Amino acid sequence: MFRRLAIIGGGAAAATLLGELLDRETPQPLQVDWFTGGGRRARGIAYGTDSKHHLLNVRAASMSMFAGKPRGFLDFVQRDDPTIAGTDFLPRHRYGDYLETEVARALQQGHARGHHVNIIPFAADALVPEADAVTVVHGDSSHRVDAAVLAIGALPAPPLAAVSAAALASGRYIVDPWQLLANADEQRPAPRKVVLIGMGLTAVDVILELSARWPHAEYIAVSRHGRFPEAHLPTVAMPADDGAELVDAMRDAPEIARWMRLLRETISQPDNEWRAVVDSLRPHIPGLWSELSLVQRTRFMRHARWAWERVRHRMSPMASDAIDGLLRSGKLHRHRGRLHAVDVVDAGLHLTVAHAGTTELLDADLVIQTVGLDTDVRHSEHRLIRQLLTNAHIEPDPLGLGVLASRDGRLQHGEKHWPNLFAIGSLLRGTLWESTAMPEIRQQARHLASQLLGD
Ligand SMILES: Cc1cc2nc3c(=O)[nH]c(=O)nc-3n(C[C@H](O)[C@H](O)[C@H](O)COP(=O)(O)OP(=O)(O)OC[C@H]3O[C@@H](n4cnc5c(N)ncnc54)[C@H](O)[C@@H]3O)c2cc1C
Repeated sequence: MFRRLAIIGGGAAAATLLGELLDRETPQPLQVDWFTGGGRRARGIAYGTDSKHHLLNVRAASMSMFAGKPRGFLDFVQRDDPTIAGTDFLPRHRYGDYLETEVARALQQGHARGHHVNIIPFAADALVPEADAVTVVHGDSSHRVDAAVLAIGALPAPPLAAVSAAALASGRYIVDPWQLLANADEQRPAPRKVVLIGMGLTAVDVILELSARWPHAEYIAVSRHGRFPEAHLPTVAMPADDGAELVDAMRDAPEIARWMRLLRETISQPDNEWRAVVDSLRPHIPGLWSELSLVQRTRFMRHARWAWERVRHRMSPMASDAIDGLLRSGKLHRHRGRLHAVDVVDAGLHLTVAHAGTTELLDADLVIQTVGLDTDVRHSEHRLIRQLLTNAHIEPDPLGLGVLASRDGRLQHGEKHWPNLFAIGSLLRGTLWESTAMPEIRQQARHLASQLLGD
């Protein structure tokens, strides 16, 4: 059992792991240093929003923090409003309230059990792992612990390569959309034309919020395929079976082309609703991903990733209706193409977008990068990640999907895994593929707590 622990990260994954640890009886009390990195503790970007337009993209009944208490979130919201159903898609700020409440409860319970949690509202700058200890450095102070967990979520996205330095300097190209949304009172004049680069769930959030803030602006969303994510059904689609036959067939032939064919065949059967088929694969994804060779994973990233993300990470029916309404009213347009350049022209920006051998120019007052999750540590400016890479304490995933690790989250250096340095959440995408949402994170937190405590 590790007695002195450090958790690095202040979002939902760190909060869930802390809750799992403090909830358990241990032979000796724990000493936990929790580096939260500043910001609103436990909420992270996803649940730090106060906007009523930002909804969970998972039903309330599936959003518990804890694998052992599946009704956790639902019970929490029903205490205030018993009419809320498990199938509802609730505002994300309610989930933030739940995270904060659960952390406060866990801290109180942990205290009663003799555990000590030292909350440090700063970012960890460096980690030095050794065989029997890890030293965590922030500023001038250092903390020696038995084991440390990286729970830093996704990395801040760098600007796209096509964007000129002048466009970046103009203040009209927004790299971090969450910062723009958070500064609701900023005195920016309302733009006439806003272009979004990327059409995933981040773009949906940004469009819904900004179209309420700037109702007279025109919005153009650009992506290579020109399509928004699929939507959940208002009711739950029941799977025709548990998906075991499909998973077995996929295991027998771990090739992306074959998997796509199998999926298409399964979905085309009359009793199978495609969402139910996709969802039935979810618990098997880490196992299936581990069957793929690097060549096959590369093929997935090139040919199937976009289609998978679109059907797997779906928007709520309400968000989908709102997007459809904006498209119908002509306030929102979809544009298919690959971004080649963003330059400053007169008082605005010009975008060069290419599709099917032709090039088009779009002009905009404001361009917002909504490309979603970045876990490519190879080019990241994240201070801690840079330090860990420079000192060869961690290894990047070759496809830019986080860091190399074992399936139980132990980080790799050279050919070995550290016995005492772990990660949870998005950094493990290279190992598990699906590793960003709460249903995956709560399972990881449960197993990680067991490993750390030697249960
Ligand atoms: C807009 C959005 C909506 C989402 N909606 C859903 C949803 O409806 N349902 C769902 O299941 N999932 C959703 N997700 C997925 C989401 O990633 C997870 O649910 C969850 O928020 C991930 O938490 P995390 O702690 O891993 O990462 P984050 O929330 O990103 O937290 C990481 C934290 O670590 C801190 N940090 C970074 N570096 C350091 C450092 N050096 N030292 C200390 N702290 C550091 C950061 O400041 C941050 O607070 C959504 C994600 C986004 C972005």
